[in-house]
Amino acid sequence: MKPHDFLMRLLRPKPQRQPEPARLPTRPTRPAKTLAAAALRMLAPTQDVELACDDVHALLDQFAEVVKRGEDAPKAMPLLQLHLDMCPDCREEFEALMRVLRANPAA
Ligand SMILES: [Zn+2]
Repeated sequence: MKPHDFLMRLLRPKPQRQPEPARLPTRPTRPAKTLAAAALRMLAPTQDVELACDDVHALLDQFAEVVKRGEDAPKAMPLLQLHLDMCPDCREEFEALMRVLRANPAA
């Protein structure tokens, strides 16, 4: 590199970088379900662990099977029973499932 080039490089103004636009802090929007779950949590302050509606839906088949077999479902899955007691949506889901199971005893 010739000394002249070196000097020119030093003197050349650096390309101006556009300042990044100030980013608004992205606030994750809480789905209504989470808010409902939070509301439920407040209604049951004594319960440490709680199932979310999604968890309940995932376990509902199992729970309904236990009920159908005439076993003590609330004892087997107390958290699920607790949720059903508090959550009309899941309770409705569960009752619909039970209707199906009772209508098809062989299934
Ligand atoms: Zn629920």
